[in-house]
Amino acid sequence: MALNAEHIQRLIELQAHDQAIDAVDKSLLEIPAAIANLKEQIEAARKRASQAKTQVQDFEKKKKERELELAQKEEAIRKHSGELNTVKTNEAFKALQSEIDRAKSEVGDIETKILELMEQIDGAQQEFKKATTDFGAEEKVLLAQITEKESGLAAVQAKKETLLAERQALAAPIPEDIHKIYDHIRSRGKRDPISKAIKKSDGGAVCGACRMNLAPQMVIEVTKLKNFVFCESCQRILYIPEVLEKALKVGA
Ligand SMILES: [Zn+2]
Repeated sequence: MALNAEHIQRLIELQAHDQAIDAVDKSLLEIPAAIANLKEQIEAARKRASQAKTQVQDFEKKKKERELELAQKEEAIRKHSGELNTVKTNEAFKALQSEIDRAKSEVGDIETKILELMEQIDGAQQEFKKATTDFGAEEKVLLAQITEKESGLAAVQAKKETLLAERQALAAPIPEDIHKIYDHIRSRGKRDPISKAIKKSDGGAVCGACRMNLAPQMVIEVTKLKNFVFCESCQRILYIPEVLEKALKVGA
């Protein structure tokens, strides 16, 4: 395949551009994931605040149950007290009186429990109030972060549009067969299909990407800039920067 220095130079530019597009694509995946994570954090904070509210409601429900129980006991005491005047025997009177006494003592216990519950409700309400305030503050911070990420995402999306348009312009002058080889290597997972060959002090060279030693004949071929030379180890297209620079100067 006929090749010249300019083609290599264009591929190097195209590669830099494609790597910028890759970075943008990475952000396009990462930013929505980060936004989803922030939304989850808001939901978790909301849940904590609502659990505090449930706690208040639980105590209030228990207090109502106790109050109902208390009313029933007091009603029983009233009823039995009225019956005291109608009993005929001393024994029946005593039995009724002891029932009333037992009910009164139970009323005392229930009243104590209601007072305890009132304290618990008070505490739980303070917890709920604090949780609500905390949630409000936390949500504000997280929502601001989401807004920031969303505008970042819009900017990255716009940047991608620009990069894609620029890529078309960059790729246009590259002959199709050369472009195809570049794309083929890239599609096989090498996001940098073109790599420097780095000259060593002993006159040899290594592939700049995989560090494999290049055969002397390959170094000669790369220097000619007439054909593609692929690294035997990683299959990237090789070029020697000094040689390329010189050839481009001559060409200009
Ligand atoms: Zn290599």
